[in-house]
Amino acid sequence: MNYKIHHLNCATLCPQGARLIHGKGKLLEESLLSCHCLLIESNDGLILVDTGFGIQDMLSLDRMGQSAAIALNPKRKPEETAVRQIEARGFKRSDVRHIVLTHLDPDHAGGIADFPNAAIHLLEEEHTAATKPATLGEKLRYRQAMWDHIPQWRLHPSVGEDWFGFNSVRMLQDSLHDILLVPLQGHSRGHCGVAIASEDGWLLHCGDAYFHKNEMNIESPKGTIGMSLIQALDDTNRKQRISNQRRLRELKRSYGSNITLFCSHDHDEFDHCASCKPHQLLTHTS
Ligand SMILES: [Zn+2]
Repeated sequence: MNYKIHHLNCATLCPQGARLIHGKGKLLEESLLSCHCLLIESNDGLILVDTGFGIQDMLSLDRMGQSAAIALNPKRKPEETAVRQIEARGFKRSDVRHIVLTHLDPDHAGGIADFPNAAIHLLEEEHTAATKPATLGEKLRYRQAMWDHIPQWRLHPSVGEDWFGFNSVRMLQDSLHDILLVPLQGHSRGHCGVAIASEDGWLLHCGDAYFHKNEMNIESPKGTIGMSLIQALDDTNRKQRISNQRRLRELKRSYGSNITLFCSHDHDEFDHCASCKPHQLLTHTS
């Protein structure tokens, strides 16, 4: 059985300021950012990595919060939501058995209510930050309405086995597939990457650990002014984020031929991934 890994863009964000955000274009022009998610076919059913915004967000921008709606300027396209894209591929929403989240910001977790039967996997620290916010920043960034439906949380500790020098936590212990949570805190208290073993090597969804592809340039890492500013405003722990970006570049330098890294919001990275042949999920019994 061949299980595929699909790249989905589950929301298009167009904040003003293309010149600052992309380093090109006009100052007041809209930029173009993706919400890069993965849809994985597996013997455990469908697995989503991040959801982007959900159907309810497309109906009312109030749900994500006015400040996020103004800052991110998401296009209201219900057809981009994970649930609509999954249905367009001939699946049912109930086929999604697991959702793995890099973190609980609205542009990553807004769609969990569209899949009430799915188990929601994330680091325990992130769940605590979102449901029992300790600072004003945490109070403002998370939207409690997004878990009004009482999700089936599956909370994981942030320590586990070694994965190329990083900690990693196996999402499903008895699974035939390797899908790991890789703690990458800094952007938020319990932010993580998600590593998936494919037949062509590992994929590492880095979430918001970085925002611009050039930040992962091994020789001369350099983001844009706009992206650096957005990250600085969103940081829970700047030192941790910068340190994790350094570690990700080292990972790419040492194992780049075996690990493909990408983040949530760089649209060029999304286009590149989506244009490649779908990866096959590695199955232990194959
Ligand atoms: Zn984000």
